[in-house]
Amino acid sequence: MRASNIANVNTLKVWAYGVAAVAAALCVTAGALALPPSTADAVTHPLTAPHDTKIMWTETSVCADGKQGGCYLPETPNVIWVSDGMPDDLEEYVILHELGHLIQHRNGEPFDECAADRYAQTHGAQFGEYCAPIG
Ligand SMILES: [Zn+2]
Repeated sequence: MRASNIANVNTLKVWAYGVAAVAAALCVTAGALALPPSTADAVTHPLTAPHDTKIMWTETSVCADGKQGGCYLPETPNVIWVSDGMPDDLEEYVILHELGHLIQHRNGEPFDECAADRYAQTHGAQFGEYCAPIG
């Protein structure tokens, strides 16, 4: 992703995750998008395909303040934004956490970080930034 795009999307309304091992991300609301970022390069992924959702891989998450992470943008409702280059188990957690937000959005529910973590953990993730895995 071009640097100019990163700067632009950092001001977007986003919901992100944070993981201490990577970097704490943010949950910022800074207004709606004038134009959603392009998702032309989104790809299918085994974890998201059952939800008719694709992944946009980015060098740094468009929504994690330049850090590694992921996010779900309601403005691109069938895409999850994920940083490239994370360890596999962390990447799985990020994807599943953001899928949790996608499902919340589709159900008309408020975004709930702990619930997104619980969704991820229920589907095999070993992490929980907002709610630690239940022993
Ligand atoms: Zn989240």
